[in-house]
Amino acid sequence: MSKRVNVVGAGIVGLSIAHDLALRGHAVTVIADQRAEESVSSVAAAVWFPYRSGTSPSLMGWLLAARERFEQLSTDRAAGVDLRDGLVVERHVGEDRSWTDAVPHHHEAAADELPDGAVAGVRATVPVISMPHYLPWLEKRCAGLGVTFVERKVTSVEDATGDADLVVVAAGMGSGALLDDDSMYPVQGQIVRLANPGITEWITDTENPGGLTYIVPRREDIVCGGVAQVGSWATEPVAEIEQEILRRVVSLMPALAGLPVLSRATGLRPARDSIRLEHVAGFPVPVIACYGHGGAGVTLSWGCAEAVADLADQV
Ligand SMILES: Cc1cc2nc3c(=O)[nH]c(=O)nc-3n(C[C@H](O)[C@H](O)[C@H](O)COP(=O)(O)OP(=O)(O)OC[C@H]3O[C@@H](n4cnc5c(N)ncnc54)[C@H](O)[C@@H]3O)c2cc1C
Repeated sequence: MSKRVNVVGAGIVGLSIAHDLALRGHAVTVIADQRAEESVSSVAAAVWFPYRSGTSPSLMGWLLAARERFEQLSTDRAAGVDLRDGLVVERHVGEDRSWTDAVPHHHEAAADELPDGAVAGVRATVPVISMPHYLPWLEKRCAGLGVTFVERKVTSVEDATGDADLVVVAAGMGSGALLDDDSMYPVQGQIVRLANPGITEWITDTENPGGLTYIVPRREDIVCGGVAQVGSWATEPVAEIEQEILRRVVSLMPALAGLPVLSRATGLRPARDSIRLEHVAGFPVPVIACYGHGGAGVTLSWGCAEAVADLADQV
């Protein structure tokens, strides 16, 4: 049965949910005070990889579903999704490789492919999402399915309800305040974007002794990171941190030396020890929470959207 659904949040999570609810015939309104292009989602690198995604029992299913959906979208050039080969560097013996269960194309990296200090690595083919293409494409897809957009800040679930039959709270860091949940915390990140002369290979080196390091080449730029400062609300890029990031990425990939800097940004990953995706009781209309995706909101987006759409049929 078709429902009127108000989704709070227009980041990658809110938009993906709105898309799938509309696809199933619901009448969806997205309410947000920032458009996707201004949200944390626009700062994401965005490579499919479950970094700081917490410990949800459903994680593997969401990862798999999202990877498959992105893979389907990679056949539509306009979406901005490309399947790209890359390397996950491992600095400790026995690192968690459970994520590879969701990736059909992966294999052990050869010793001569690893940077100094690495003990092993996994080469994998995963989706890389060029967010400057993807977010506007997704907004347009939603609009094409009849989703309407309202730009305003919501102060409570009641304020978001109006004449809706169902409210979905997918407001990233803003979700905790709406649902009286104090278990969220920011994991601050900083990136620098370089001009891309045609590089396609990505690298993640989360345990780099200098700090979290990654290189994600997209269509027009190469996102270089990063930082993962738990509890920091800092919003301005710091020049010294950027210099350190550039030093580390050039050491991993010397071809990056001297590439022009296009832009820089910071973002607060909306973290929680485990993602909250559930029906929340106690409101006049059913409420579904979907937030706390940490450093993997893009990676999990379609999996969580499908789960919310399933739940919407049950509440
Ligand atoms: C530097 C960096 C690199 C990253 N790299 C990757 C990566 O490679 N791969 C990956 O999967 N993830 C990555 N991430 C993580 C990813 O960006 C986040 O997990 C994701 O963006 C979270 O999406 P979201 O939709 O939940 O939140 P957001 O994008 O923050 O969107 C929240 C939305 O809710 C709205 N909102 C909030 N409060 C209210 C309110 N009270 N009223 C109205 N509207 C409200 C906002 O306006 C916004 O529209 C990275 C993050 C950072 C910072």
